[in-house]
Parts: sequence; C-alpha cells; structure tokens
Amino acid sequence: MDGMIGQRWTEVRAEVPAGVEVVAVSKTKPVEAVEAGYAAGARSFGENRVQELVHKHETLTHPESGRPDAFQGLSWHQIGTLQKNKVKYIAPFVGLIHAVDQVSLLDEINKRAQAHDRKIPVLLQLHIAQESSKFGLSNAELEVILGQREAGQWPHVHVQGLMGMATFTEDHLQVAREFNGLRALFDQYGPAMGWDTLSMGMSGDWRIAVDCGSTMVRIGSAIFGKR
Ligand SMILES: *Cc1c(COP(=O)(O)O)cnc(C)c1O
Repeated sequence: MDGMIGQRWTEVRAEVPAGVEVVAVSKTKPVEAVEAGYAAGARSFGENRVQELVHKHETLTHPESGRPDAFQGLSWHQIGTLQKNKVKYIAPFVGLIHAVDQVSLLDEINKRAQAHDRKIPVLLQLHIAQESSKFGLSNAELEVILGQREAGQWPHVHVQGLMGMATFTEDHLQVAREFNGLRALFDQYGPAMGWDTLSMGMSGDWRIAVDCGSTMVRIGSAIFGKR
C-alpha cells in the first residue's frame, strides 16, 4: 500500500501547478496511509469526521503521541461539514477548517479558539452546486458575514478565503461555470479581506478548478485509492 500512495502523491504533486497547495484527503484511510503520504512529501491532510481526525492526531502529532517530531509541519484540515458541538475536540490543533457555512459555527470556533489562546484559520463555504444537497452560504449570507467581520466580529478566527464544491456531473462547462462564480467572489472580496486561499477541486475535477483559479485542491481517491 505504502509504495502506491507515495507514487500517486508524487504524480499528483508533479501535475498540480507549483503555486497550488494539495491537501491529501486521508478520510476513511488508516494512520499508515497518512504516514506513507507524509513520507512522500504531503504535509496537509484532510479529514471529514472529527472522531477520526482526533484519533489520527493523537496517534501521530499530539505532543504526547510519543513521536510528534516525526511529523513536523503536518497540518490537519477539517474539510467536511462540522457540527458545532464537535468544534471543541479539534480547536487545540486543527490547521484549517474548510467548510464554515453558518454564523453560529463562527461563534463557536471563535469561542473555542479564544479558550486555547489561538486564532483558528477557516474558509467560508459557498453554495455553488446545483444540487440542493450541497452545503454552503448564499452570496447574501456571505455579505452579511463579511459586514460583521469588518465590524470586528470573531477576532479569534482567521478567515483565509473561500471553499466550494461543484456539482457532480460530466458536464465540464457547468463545473467550470460554478468554479468561476466562486472565483469571482474571491476576486471581489479577497483583496480587501486579505484572503489568500481559494479551496476548490477534488480528484475528479481539480484540473477544471485549477484552470478557474483554485489555490488549494483537496485530493483523496487519486492519492489513497478508492474508499
Ligand atoms: C472526500 C472529499 C474530498 C476528496 O474527494 P476525492 O474525490 O476522493 O478526491 C474533497 N473535499 C471534500 C469536502 C470531501 O469531503
């Protein structure tokens, strides 16, 4: 298993443009898969279940894991929907929360970050897909949040940019249209807000996302194999 993960990471990393960060999405895969990815050069790992994220952190990177020095520079990304009552478990160590789509979640992240005397980096997730099942803020909700932000809300949250998931479809024009819409919002608000991260693109659509201006792709199955 290890050899294939390292090889696939290297291939993906070589194909994604140098300025675009690759988050290795290790969800559902064992700790050994993260170790293999790290050995090949991956540094950011994406998980969507808090319990699994905490388990992997405790095994590999927690100060009391016995070997935190072996994984220096490893950053854990929470990429999926995050329930408010679980924020407290990841607040001490999470490197980036990708899918913030509610004011109440910002409130909770701010509170837990303050308790740990840190600033937690987050991305605001926009609803860009046609499917109603995909989560995310509307443009109007984004504007409200940015207004509150400018008024000084959530001082312990570092809003670093935007994230979105396109419709799961073979229609590349539609996917590009959705990614371009997100990119337009990023360009509209980003400079004033000091954003540097536009997280869009997964194994099946990252090439389109990069063409549309993505700065961060989240790649799981193309590195770790089918789930
Ligand atoms: C699972 C997941 C990914 C990675 O999906 P792949 O198709 O395996 O690359 C990316 N982003 C989010 C939010 C995910 O939940």
